[in-house]
Amino acid sequence: LDKEWAFMVRVRCPGGRMTAAQWLHLDSLAETHADKTLRLTSRQGVQFHGVLRGNVKPVIAGIDAALLTSFAACGDVVRNVTTTAAPRRTAVHAALQSWAARLSTALLPKTRAHHDIFLSEGGDAPAKAEEEPLYGPTYLPRKFKIALVHPADNTPDVLTNDLGFIAKVQGGRVVGWQVTIGGGLGMTHNKPATFPRLADPVAFIGPDEVLEVAEAVVRLSRDYGDRADRKHARLKYVLAEKGADWARAQISADLGRELAPPGPLPELQMPELLGWQIQGDGKLWLGLPIPSGRVADRPGVALRTAIREVVSRFGADPVATPQQDLILSNLPPDSRQEVEAIFRAHGVTLAQDLSPVARWSLACVALPTCGQSLAEGERVHAPMLTAVEAALDRHGLAEERLSFRLTGCPNGCARPYAGDIGVVGRAPGLYMLFVGGDFAGTRLSFPIADKVPEAEVATVLEPMFAAFAAARMPGEGFGDFCTRQGADTLRSLIDRATAQTT
Ligand code: SF4
Repeated sequence: LDKEWAFMVRVRCPGGRMTAAQWLHLDSLAETHADKTLRLTSRQGVQFHGVLRGNVKPVIAGIDAALLTSFAACGDVVRNVTTTAAPRRTAVHAALQSWAARLSTALLPKTRAHHDIFLSEGGDAPAKAEEEPLYGPTYLPRKFKIALVHPADNTPDVLTNDLGFIAKVQGGRVVGWQVTIGGGLGMTHNKPATFPRLADPVAFIGPDEVLEVAEAVVRLSRDYGDRADRKHARLKYVLAEKGADWARAQISADLGRELAPPGPLPELQMPELLGWQIQGDGKLWLGLPIPSGRVADRPGVALRTAIREVVSRFGADPVATPQQDLILSNLPPDSRQEVEAIFRAHGVTLAQDLSPVARWSLACVALPTCGQSLAEGERVHAPMLTAVEAALDRHGLAEERLSFRLTGCPNGCARPYAGDIGVVGRAPGLYMLFVGGDFAGTRLSFPIADKVPEAEVATVLEPMFAAFAAARMPGEGFGDFCTRQGADTLRSLIDRATAQTT
């Protein structure tokens, strides 16, 4: 007898776009071949959890039958390409989505091994030796992440990616791209050579140069990433050591033409994508909050069933957002009341019922699914968030827009170092707290407390909330306030509050 192995299968889904038919297909596979849930990821992908060994091939074949793929959704390759999820019908949004899809396809490995093993009739046939023109025989030293954004919508946190493209927009069209290189959030506790990093602006390119520049940057990662130490292999360490000018010179030499230096980064913004919004083509979208990205039916809240009903009844095309939420697009304006009634009847909470901190919170899967996790993520998200909401409320901050991001380990899948508050698993039941990032994702946070018990996260944050409420500058966000105060001042606040309660 062997163990009853269970697997995670991830769907690669550039820009998070799916058709109604594709969603219904995934929903059905979750019911028959997984744990009856779908998990939306912070990179706009969809995961099946609890896929038993005998179901792995049927799930992968089912994804393929829906004209989606699990190929290269994991591994040392270019991962799912993210972009703004907003289904606005503008030329700029069309360009963003079109490039996300094009990059996703063009940067796939050329191997047929995935097809031979998972999709062919016989299966398990050893793939023949093949040439990989971009990846080479040893692929990349580590995973490689790409995002494209409009400055008015940085919800994909472009600067946390190995490679980012920020659209320069004039007259409603993309006239070029700022290229940013060297972001990445993973680190390892007690290993100072590893650290989270935001990308550097490296070059400015024309509107049609995205693919060839992306290929050159992938080659840069392939050739210069540290293959001797997997924890030091991401492109961010190359940029940290060699700099943006060196990277631009390398890419220019690779392409055989000089790339223009980058201009200053534009101001990046985080728009609200939840609730009812106008697409611009006579239709509406509904941004639906999905707590921790988990689409499930639970006692009293039949979220998966309600989504299935709305998608099948109205043909709404879903878009997974980088906030682990789901946009239901292409809804007719006269469907609004009926759609809301369906969700209400199934006990589903809509965006208007949530506090801002709940709307902007993220949590990774962690235990029991992720083998890297050191502490709980998704399963303690709700109680931790409730305690934070109560603490904010006690200081008149219930309506404050701030981001709260929880992960079960320092790999940082829910981007904990790029928001106002990051809570990072340290050991079972214990977390490291980070504050001081900005809401727009342009500044990293810093550690403020370590080995905080799970039940005391809000308690440790509360003295900082109190100080923020009392001494913030007009318009100042929580992360900005924390950065202005500095770590030493904040730690003394926490120490004083702890001394008073002991
Ligand atoms: Fe990612 Fe770590 Fe969370 Fe696993 S536990 S999902 S590796 S952040």
